Amino acid sequence: MELRRTFQFEAAHRLTQVPSGHKCARLHGHSFQVEVVVEGPLDPQLGWVMDYADIKAAFAPLYQQLDHNYLNDLPGLENPTSELLAIWIWQRLKPALPLLTEIVVAETCTARCVYRGGA
Ligand SMILES: [Zn+2]
Repeated sequence: MELRRTFQFEAAHRLTQVPSGHKCARLHGHSFQVEVVVEGPLDPQLGWVMDYADIKAAFAPLYQQLDHNYLNDLPGLENPTSELLAIWIWQRLKPALPLLTEIVVAETCTARCVYRGGA
């Protein structure tokens, strides 16, 4: 069974590797949405996979770093595309959240990136 917990944070960034003149090279911000997905067996006694509050607690240190910040300043996020942000979150969240199976990063309502580990 799968649980999905959504977080939102506001942050600025600029993409450093796009061709000159690309709009994403300019400083701008997003209301980022991050979906944290975990998968595991249903605990027959508790009737849940895990506590949503534990997902929130695991994500909290990352939220503190990301919210209302300039993402390019964070070590490992010098070029903060959605894809690299998803990997950055995965690498920091997986140790605290072993059931993690997927990170979804949405910069806008219509564009999102899904990372399932590995690459
Ligand atoms: Zn952007």
